Amino acid sequence: MTATSHTASPRYVAPAAELPRIALLATGGTIAGSAPDATRTAGYQAGILGIQDLLSAVPALGGIAHIHAEQVAQIDSKDMSCALWQKLAARLNAVLSQPDVAGAVITHGTDTLEETAYYLHLTLNSHKPVVITAAMRPATALSADGPLNLLNAVRVAADPISGGRGVLVAVNNQIHCARDVVKTSTYAVDAFHSPEVGVLGWVQDDRVAFQRMPLQFHSVESEFVGITGELPAVEVVASYAGVSRIAVDALVEAGVRGIVVAGTGNGSLHVSLQQALDEAVQRGVTVVRASRVGSGHVMHNGAAPDDQYGFVSAGNLPPFKARVLLMLALQAGVPAERMQSLFENY
Ligand code: ASP
Repeated sequence: MTATSHTASPRYVAPAAELPRIALLATGGTIAGSAPDATRTAGYQAGILGIQDLLSAVPALGGIAHIHAEQVAQIDSKDMSCALWQKLAARLNAVLSQPDVAGAVITHGTDTLEETAYYLHLTLNSHKPVVITAAMRPATALSADGPLNLLNAVRVAADPISGGRGVLVAVNNQIHCARDVVKTSTYAVDAFHSPEVGVLGWVQDDRVAFQRMPLQFHSVESEFVGITGELPAVEVVASYAGVSRIAVDALVEAGVRGIVVAGTGNGSLHVSLQQALDEAVQRGVTVVRASRVGSGHVMHNGAAPDDQYGFVSAGNLPPFKARVLLMLALQAGVPAERMQSLFENY
């Protein structure tokens, strides 16, 4: 077989003038990380290289989209804040409302990517594709994964098939739903998974393919689109052998509005924690019961009598995403009696 026979039916390549416009918002992370030498994949600093450096490492992007790049932040995503989420959401809503912008890509650190992704999934007012990407190895490393992830993220954002699915996470040739994806490894390149439900689709070379649609509310049908104001204090605590009630009591005393508890197994709670959380509810704190296990769901009235104590169960939302939803719900003034159905529908 000759090389010519492989290319006998080439895919249509749009002329440069017809390339879609993609907004690229950079926030730092390991994808913009720098190490003293190329062999270092652990000892490096995140959020060093600017977006122009990331773009110049991938000349092929010029054949896929007209990219309008902005450096929105330059941080290690371990330091992500609610204020930066709000700034990012406002900027994305502004650029996506421009008729000539086909979609958006965000570069982000991997540590809190899943939280940012879910926050944006619930607050963006657009059907256009929005794709977050990242890297596990710094930009200076041998076999850095950032350049291909960036190329693939732009391909996904530039393909109209990606629209209407909420915020997508494109890493390692896979496309995940913002609601489902979690980081599952400290250093592996294959760090992101969507436990139980699996990937939404994949991107390989010039092909973008999807296998399913997210069913829970997101983006335009979310009641949290365009929400403003400082998000209320919601903290996460965990249940484990010998846990005391000190942390819960201190949080209640400090005036938090909500507590998400990462329970053992199916969201079960140590008796001391259960008592402290019961008292927290009586003092007006919303308590959401999630699991620290990493997959599976927490059934309402399953491992704890939620209705008796006034707890909300998180279903299959992991604790840190349950915190995002609870902050938005409290900020939006969702009444206590609707909180459980909210967690079942978002
Ligand atoms: N600490 C880095 C960050 O989250 C890790 C990464 O990007 O992979 O920004």
